Amino acid sequence: MKYSLVTGGSRGLGRAVCIKLAQMGIPVIINYQSNQQAAEEVRDIIISNGGEASLLKFNVADKEEVSAALEAWEKEHPNDYIAYLVNNAGIRRDNVMFMMPDEDWHSVINTTLNGFFYVTRHLLPKMMMRKHGGRIVNMASLSGLKGMAGQTNYSAAKAALIGATKALAQEAAARNVTVNAVAPGFIDTDMTKDLPQDELKQLVPMKRFGKPEEVAALVGFLCSDDSSYITGEVISINGGLY
Ligand code: NAP
Repeated sequence: MKYSLVTGGSRGLGRAVCIKLAQMGIPVIINYQSNQQAAEEVRDIIISNGGEASLLKFNVADKEEVSAALEAWEKEHPNDYIAYLVNNAGIRRDNVMFMMPDEDWHSVINTTLNGFFYVTRHLLPKMMMRKHGGRIVNMASLSGLKGMAGQTNYSAAKAALIGATKALAQEAAARNVTVNAVAPGFIDTDMTKDLPQDELKQLVPMKRFGKPEEVAALVGFLCSDDSSYITGEVISINGGLY
């Protein structure tokens, strides 16, 4: 059986992606770091709608934790593999660079970039060995495309993720594994709660923040058979804000 893994699936964009993939009939593994209650809620919503979902707690930035959790899952599922991977877990620690503590620089890079590396490297061999291949979708950001003041750490991590997406797409293409990135603008989640939303909305040509479900629809498309010839792409979803 082919499973999907969504990192940071307990809240925000990851939560909406989990629900979307389950609606597409794909069993979902919901990863989270600490918010068990939120993760259980996503699982319960999926199951009550007839889908299949389970939880897998690990910190994507911790290499040992990633390996231990994925190895344990693989041991329990000897005949299954994770064919759909959505590298979504991410954090923001905004500050102008001259005031940025080491910790805020490293934690953002560790979660977004190293998290992508640890999880993807572990799952990639199995995807590449299987006839049906796989789908990898990386959650980048407008910040990684244009650079955002106050976010040198976040912009750097997301820009690096975009570079890695394009390189890995070329490594994996012949094995029927596609690798794409999604670059959302402002989306209404916990991550953007503390921002001056009324002010920022005026910058967006559509005059509103996006909804997690709108991003999930795009991720769902990139995980579907309909996107089988798309790889190495970065698709913006931002209401016209560039
Ligand atoms: P969010 O509401 O803050 O949710 C973050 C999710 O990531 C939670 O499920 C959290 O788990 C998980 N997480 C954080 N650090 C983790 C770690 N080290 N290991 C495992 N899971 C971890 O954020 P969001 O807005 O949905 O953002 C999701 C992704 O989209 C991020 O990569 C973000 O950079 C990107 N993005 C967001 C926006 C936006 O406007 N919201 C725009 C562009 C890109 P817990 O629940 O356990 O804490």
